[in-house]
Amino acid sequence: MKIELKQQFQIESARFLPFLPVSHPCHKMHGHSFKITFTLTGEMDPRLGWLIDYNEIESLLKPLLALIDHKVLNEVLGLENPTTENLCVWLYENARKALPLVSRVSISETTTTECSYPV
Ligand SMILES: [Zn+2]
Repeated sequence: MKIELKQQFQIESARFLPFLPVSHPCHKMHGHSFKITFTLTGEMDPRLGWLIDYNEIESLLKPLLALIDHKVLNEVLGLENPTTENLCVWLYENARKALPLVSRVSISETTTTECSYPV
C-alpha cells in the first residue's frame, strides 16, 4: 500500500537576489526563517506498518540542511541566485540523493507563502 509522509524543518538563512532591480527590497541582503516540508512517498512495510522512521528522515536530511542553515545562500554551490524556487529545486535534487523516497519539497519563506517542487 502506497502512503505519504511529511516532515517539516526550519532553518534561518540570509540571501540577496542579484537579478532583481536595485529598487526591489530582495535585491539587498536580508534573512528568512524558512519552513521546509519534505514529502515522502512509497510502499508501506506491511509488517512494521510504516514507511520510514521520522528519526531516520531527520538523520538523512540534516547534513543537507546544515549546508544552508545560518548561511548566506548565495555562497552555496548551485544557489548563486537563491530564489525560493531555485532553493526548492536544489533541495529536492540533493535530498533525493540521500533519501530517494522524497517526492516533493515545499518551502515557506513567510507565513503566507509557499513554493513547491516538483509540480
Ligand atoms: Zn527574501
